[in-house]
Amino acid sequence: MNIIVQKFGGTSVGTVERIKNVAMRAIETKKKGYDTVVVVSAMGDTTDQLIKLAKGVNTNPPKRELDMLLATGEQTSIALLAMAIDGMGHKAVSLTGYQGGIVTNNYYSKAKIDSIDPKRIKDELAEDKIVIIAGFQGASLSHDITTLGRGGSDTTAVAIAVALEAVKCEIYTDVLGIYTSDPRLVPSAKLLNTISYDELLEMAMLGAGVMHPRSVELARKNNMPLVVRSTFDFDNEGTEIIEVKNMEKAQVRGVTLDEDIVRISVPNVPDRPGIAYKLFSSLINLNVHIDMILQNLNHDGFNDISFTVPIDDFELILPTIEAFVDEVGASPILVKKDVAKLSIVGTGITSDVKIASGLFGKIYELGINIEMISTSEIKISCIISQSQAKQALDEVHKYFELNGL
Ligand code: ADP
Ligand code: ASP
Ligand code: MG
Repeated sequence: MNIIVQKFGGTSVGTVERIKNVAMRAIETKKKGYDTVVVVSAMGDTTDQLIKLAKGVNTNPPKRELDMLLATGEQTSIALLAMAIDGMGHKAVSLTGYQGGIVTNNYYSKAKIDSIDPKRIKDELAEDKIVIIAGFQGASLSHDITTLGRGGSDTTAVAIAVALEAVKCEIYTDVLGIYTSDPRLVPSAKLLNTISYDELLEMAMLGAGVMHPRSVELARKNNMPLVVRSTFDFDNEGTEIIEVKNMEKAQVRGVTLDEDIVRISVPNVPDRPGIAYKLFSSLINLNVHIDMILQNLNHDGFNDISFTVPIDDFELILPTIEAFVDEVGASPILVKKDVAKLSIVGTGITSDVKIASGLFGKIYELGINIEMISTSEIKISCIISQSQAKQALDEVHKYFELNGL
C-alpha cells in the first residue's frame, strides 16, 4: 500500500465551502494513486465553544465528561467530510478515534497514545475508500473517550501515519508553512523551506502553536516524512521537515513567544541534599510540564527555587506545592502571572556567544529586565514581563533577521 496521511486543521474545515475544498484535495490525492487517509480537527473555534458550553453548566467539569463533549467537535467534521466526498462521487468512510483503533492512557484532556491497531483503517482502504479519522481523540483501555490536548490532531495524524507506514504525513493549515516567527504576531516573519525536526520540536514546545509538539517528536522518532503547508494555496509547497541539520554555521531559525505560563517561586527552602528532588518528585503524578527551574544560592542555609508551568496546570499543582512549603518550612510561594517566555531557536546557537549576547543586548536596549534565563544546545529562553513581550518578539526577530536569520 502507498498511503498518504493528510491532516486539516480547524480553519481548513471551518465552513461548508472549506470542507468541500478538503474533499477535493483528498480526491485529488486518491486519483494520484495513493491510499488516502484524512485526519480532521473540529470546525473553526468549535472546541473553544464546547469548552464554554461545559463551563456554563459546571465551572469545573469532570474531565471524563469534558473529553466526551470535546470529541464531538471532530466527529461533526469527519461526518461532513465523508458526506462531501460521497457527494462528489467517491467512496469515503468516517471513523472516530476509537473506531480507528487509537488506544490511549486515561489522562483525560491530555491523554497519550499507547497503541494503534490499524486493521479497520486498512480494511476500509482495501475497499478503495478515502478514510477519514477524527483528530485529537482516542479511547482508553476501559473504552472511555479521551482527548490528546489542545492542538492534538497533529499528533493523531502522525501517529496514524506511523502505524500505517505511510509514505508521508502532510499537515495542511491556515498559513503557508513554518515561519521564522508567528506570522500573525510578526508580519515580517519569513517562510522556511526546510527546518529540522529538532528545531521545529523546540519551537513547538516554546510556544509556536503551529504544531502539537508530540506530533513532531513522534515523526522524528519514527523518521516519518513530514510537510507543513497551506490548505488554501496548493501551489506553495510549504515547509519540509528534514533530518539533516546545517552544522556549518550556528544560526537562529526561529523566535517564539509563550504567554501562557506562570512563574512560581518558593522562597527560603532549606539548603539540604534531596530538597529539589522532594519538590519535583511530588509533581510527577500530576503529569505537568515544569520548565526554567532556577535555584538561587541564597542566605544562611536557605535557597529560593523558581520555575514556570503552563497556566492551565497552575490550579492543579498549587495544593502540592503548598503542601511542600508546609512540610519543609519554606516561605509562602510567590506567583507571577504577568510573564512570558521569549526564545530563540537554532541548532548549535549556544556555541556562538555572539548570538546569546545579541539577544541579551537587544532586550537590554528595549529597557526590559530578564527575570530568568535557560539554555540548551538548540535554544535560549528568557522570562520577561508579558506587557513588553510582543514588542520584544518583534524587535528580537528584526535583530536576528538583520544578522542572518
Ligand atoms: P490548525 O487549526 O491548522 O491546526 P493552528 O492554529 O493550530 O492551525 O496553527 C496554525 C497557526 O500557528 C498559524 O495561524 C500561526 O498564527 C501560528 N504560528 C505560530 N508560530 C508559527 C510559526 N513559527 N510558523 C507558522 N505558524 C505559526
Ligand atoms: N480541535 C482541537 C483543538 O482545538 C484539536 C486540534 O485542533 O488539533 O485544540
Ligand atoms: Mg493546530
